[in-house]
Amino acid sequence: MTAVVDLKPFTADQAQLPATLELSGIAHSFGGFKVLTDVNFAVPQGRIVGLIGPNGSGKSTCFNIVSGFLRPKAGRVLLSGRDIAADSIQARTRHGLMRTFQTPKVFERMSVLENVMVGLHQQGRSGIIASMLRTPAARRELDQLRNTAEQACRKFGLDRLLDEQTGRLPAGLRRVVELARAYVGAPRLMLLDEPSSGLNTEEIEQLRGWIAMLNSEGMTILLVSHDMGLMTIADTVHALYFGEIIASGPMAAIRAHPRVREAYLGG
Ligand code: ADP
Ligand code: MG
Repeated sequence: MTAVVDLKPFTADQAQLPATLELSGIAHSFGGFKVLTDVNFAVPQGRIVGLIGPNGSGKSTCFNIVSGFLRPKAGRVLLSGRDIAADSIQARTRHGLMRTFQTPKVFERMSVLENVMVGLHQQGRSGIIASMLRTPAARRELDQLRNTAEQACRKFGLDRLLDEQTGRLPAGLRRVVELARAYVGAPRLMLLDEPSSGLNTEEIEQLRGWIAMLNSEGMTILLVSHDMGLMTIADTVHALYFGEIIASGPMAAIRAHPRVREAYLGG
């Protein structure tokens, strides 16, 4: 049993939405050390759901189980009703799951536009880009890819940086490039791992705007972070503590929750 979930997990409105992602009975351990115990929550279609918790509470483990970097010892991970717990990372990407990393993983020596084009390739929309340069048809396809990537860049305010070398950009912009690359693949579910880490206050404010934009376009988002400020963007937040969800609800309620306060402040 999950410990104390004494706040309503979802608003009535959310409970009626089909779940894009559903974790049920997830358990994990490393060398006999239990890290997650019976974790259950859903990410309803079109919503932003947050997973918060102090260091070591199991957020990354949970995130890695959803994204496919780890197989859970028990439980199911359903993506639009299909159990993906045993699928490879690539198969999950094909099924519409896209992640970003705590430290943005961008190709530093490639331009901003090329980085975003990789997102189209990752989604399996094209063959190996290099192999496409050979025929006129392939060239046309490459032009299309470039157009799509350019549009995505424009959307994220990167239009003046298309040819910049990505490794030269400040952390906040590298994060935006990573977001644009994930976005361009049109995922059903976007997983954001500590997206505000390494960003300054102004960059975090901009990040909130991009996350809101993704969501307003109907993208479902799972946001993992220890940043309570950023978390106010989520419709529902689940608080993890020593591998168990101890409270679920809107961020304001989570912040005020006695067990969460105890977990964060030690009393
Ligand atoms: P969070 O992301 O909330 O900080 P993690 O999921 O990274 O928490 O870690 C949860 C617990 O699992 C911690 O006690 C951590 O030390 C442990 N842990 C995480 N990854 C491993 C691993 N690969 N091997 C052993 N222990 C791990
Ligand atoms: Mg972590």
